[in-house]
Amino acid sequence: MSPPALHRIGIGTDLHALAPGRPLVLGSVRIPFEKGPLGHSDGDVVLHALIDAVSGAAGMPDIGEQFPDSDPRHRDADSRDLVRHTLHALRTTGHRVACVDLIIHAEKPKLSAYKDAIRRSVAELLGLDPARVAIKAKTNEGLDAVGRGEAIACTAVVGLVLTDSG
Ligand code: MG
Repeated sequence: MSPPALHRIGIGTDLHALAPGRPLVLGSVRIPFEKGPLGHSDGDVVLHALIDAVSGAAGMPDIGEQFPDSDPRHRDADSRDLVRHTLHALRTTGHRVACVDLIIHAEKPKLSAYKDAIRRSVAELLGLDPARVAIKAKTNEGLDAVGRGEAIACTAVVGLVLTDSG
């Protein structure tokens, strides 16, 4: 039987400034590095871009509207909880995530050794086969804030299928 056809597609991006002494967490995987994202939550750019991609695909409000940073409940939030909340809301739209494509934009650290762990972590969080999650890591060729090592960013694209399509 052929897999169900994609019904909707969404895109999300996120960027956080990096500061010394903050933990670097990407796709809920802790990466050893001297800097990490500044932010109200844990600053996990992978999960934040993913949330916006899922939300966009389903026509739901963006991450800032769902989880306003003016709300103290989201201070140092574990972004996995935000993803779970978004997936719960997604179910009510009659969709589920079928595939994810992620690009992490970072000058440093080198992420090649961590890509598989991030892929598995994101897949587990989404209840997907890891083969349905792709991760690319790119430098910014030394240009702009990412290239100067002042920021880290992620671009996510998500495909949704209808839950009743098998
Ligand atoms: Mg963010």
